[in-house]
Amino acid sequence: MTRLLDQLPKVRGKYIENAPLKDSVWFRVGGAAEILFKPADADDLCAFFQGKPADVPITLLGVGSNVLIRDGGIPGVTIKLGSSFSKITCAGTTITAGAGALDRTVALTAAQAGIGGFSFLSGIPGTIGGAIKMNAGAYGSEIKDIFQSCQVVTPQGTIEERVANDLGFSYRKSLLQDDEVVVSATFVGTIRSSKDLEQEIAEILKEREASQPVRARTGGSTFKNPEGMKAWQLIDAAGFRGRTLGGALVSEKHCNFLINTGTATAHDLEALGNEIQKHVLNQSGISLEWEIKRLGTYDKKGLKNA
Ligand SMILES: Cc1cc2nc3c(=O)[nH]c(=O)nc-3n(C[C@H](O)[C@H](O)[C@H](O)COP(=O)(O)OP(=O)(O)OC[C@H]3O[C@@H](n4cnc5c(N)ncnc54)[C@H](O)[C@@H]3O)c2cc1C
Repeated sequence: MTRLLDQLPKVRGKYIENAPLKDSVWFRVGGAAEILFKPADADDLCAFFQGKPADVPITLLGVGSNVLIRDGGIPGVTIKLGSSFSKITCAGTTITAGAGALDRTVALTAAQAGIGGFSFLSGIPGTIGGAIKMNAGAYGSEIKDIFQSCQVVTPQGTIEERVANDLGFSYRKSLLQDDEVVVSATFVGTIRSSKDLEQEIAEILKEREASQPVRARTGGSTFKNPEGMKAWQLIDAAGFRGRTLGGALVSEKHCNFLINTGTATAHDLEALGNEIQKHVLNQSGISLEWEIKRLGTYDKKGLKNA
């Protein structure tokens, strides 16, 4: 059988075969990437797409704070942007950030530069690429409120600019396709005092610490809030606060968060999520939608009701 690696184009970045992904995601579970690709820069990423066989599947990974990688791993090529994609520059009230820049670093840079509108990002532990894909938000603000445009590498290997209308942002969702890679983005804020913004960020971080298991092996909100409701209240009412399945636990602190207690498999976590969905539906008639992106294939045990 031909190795996938032998079918891929020459790149300046790095390919790693059978790369463990566990340590690259917040849940600390899941199988390996058949190939992990760390592009050198956007042009390298274009060259990769132009030269790769059309039938090789692509998966994108930020810092894995909203994904559950299944135990069977991810077939095809998983792309992860490295430090060459994390530059942040400020000009007036405009900020341009590489897609690999951390949301928190962008919020702190904005505060130092006296640019308002970015503080909500300080409590979101992802990258700018993941934030755009998910229209990440907190405390009444979302990425769409500050978004101006982004550069995307397309599956054809071209670089295109996308504006807000193209991305059709809605609650924790954008119209970006799963194989379109955001490489950088431009945002616009307002003039504010650095002192006020630093204070705002300190309050957000304090609030987070009190209400979410921010130091646990988790994937953030498991389910989206249904219109006009809170997912955690439905989960609580269904009796799932503190419930376990194998090494997976429903957080006592915030029951829309699943936690890997240390021994969980991706199977445990997904099966517990599926149980929650089933019971909430039976009890309230409401169908919870996964916010966490579940990626890759099941291991030999398989998983029903996925
Ligand atoms: C403790 C905790 C608290 C959280 N709080 C919040 C919160 O308040 N608000 C909120 O919205 N989210 C929250 N999250 C979820 C998560 O941080 C966000 O969804 C974040 O935007 C994901 O970014 P990431 O880089 O980790 O992306 P990943 O989790 O790695 O990926 C998420 C999705 O984005 C895609 N993606 C990643 N990078 C790119 C790219 N460059 N181009 C295109 N697509 C890409 C992936 O393919 C995947 O579909 C929380 C998570 C944790 C663990």
